[in-house]
Amino acid sequence: MKNYKLLTPGPLTTTNTVKEEMLFDRCTWDNDYKEITQKIRTQLLELANASEEDYTVVLMQGSGTFSVESVISSSISKNDKVLIVTNGAYGERIVKMAKYIGLNFVQYSIAYDELPKEEELRDIIEKDSAITHIVMVHCETTTGILNPIEMVADLSKEYNKTLIIDAMSSFGGIEIDIQKLGIDYLISSANKCIQGVPGFGFVIAKLNKLVQCEGIARSVSLDLFDQWKEMDKDGKWRFTSPTHVVAAFSKAIDELIEEGGISARYARYKNNNRVLRMRLKEVGINAYISEENQSPIITTFLFPSEQFSFENFYYFIKEKGFVIYPGKLTDADTFRVGNIGEIYEEDIQSLCNIIEEYMGVVTK
Ligand SMILES: *Cc1c(COP(=O)(O)O)cnc(C)c1O
Repeated sequence: MKNYKLLTPGPLTTTNTVKEEMLFDRCTWDNDYKEITQKIRTQLLELANASEEDYTVVLMQGSGTFSVESVISSSISKNDKVLIVTNGAYGERIVKMAKYIGLNFVQYSIAYDELPKEEELRDIIEKDSAITHIVMVHCETTTGILNPIEMVADLSKEYNKTLIIDAMSSFGGIEIDIQKLGIDYLISSANKCIQGVPGFGFVIAKLNKLVQCEGIARSVSLDLFDQWKEMDKDGKWRFTSPTHVVAAFSKAIDELIEEGGISARYARYKNNNRVLRMRLKEVGINAYISEENQSPIITTFLFPSEQFSFENFYYFIKEKGFVIYPGKLTDADTFRVGNIGEIYEEDIQSLCNIIEEYMGVVTK
């Protein structure tokens, strides 16, 4: 197989040093391994600006969705009601979970290229006093739109609601001051902006909320409370842990810190994204999300013409060493380019050169 770099929202391109951590088979029972888990949990708290007195970290096997479902099914009881904000497929996936679990919920659905509005949210909350929880996706990876967590966090505080944020594709790439915002549960995974490999997710949880979750879970394997209780003793996971992924993740966090922390990574991603949007615009490929609402993570682009074939485009680019993503919209023909991972401006410039060449080939 020919090598390529991933310009997708995860799994993404990782460093060789991260991959090399997986060449040794570690014992889950051994102290050295359990210490890696504990180190990761401490470092994640630091990255989130959260204190050990108020917050804790729970790692959960599976892809990111498993961690989202773990929070949704372990923290919202039969007597609660959750307001789910949706402007993309990941928000809608949470609605699907709510239906499967049988939760009381209300959906605030907005167009995929629009942000939730404060007045509308306020109206829903004020008219429905049964609402106890609010869930929102931070960066909707469907389009790359960045939702306003400050606004929603302020409302959650004002109305005393429990706030759950799916920050899967943003945590580690965008600074999120969890404690200051008062987020109760923040969910992300190993293979997004921390630049690890896929295999587990994590939840940064407010302790005074998590301790109330005993017995709420509808699934043994996704029981967030039980997972925390076991892991918090000494770093031993409840069931088989993804040892290779955990070791690689530990290295990935160290590399994030070496890079200069989240602010430095944000600057790199932001620049990648700026160059990408600018150069594609020059060849007539426009972004779906307006610049002020665009995340520095992933961008959705409209097809430049009706004859445009994503399939041809994709293989042309893959042949030259990059892999991009198909679009996920039903009302417009789009493709997506992620700019997170071990990706630098020179990679983005190379990609744009390839795309320029392609556009020249098909239009001239
Ligand atoms: C990646 C992602 C998820 C999780 O997806 P998995 O495929 O289960 O890892 C959830 N929410 C958002 C916003 C994401 O970007």
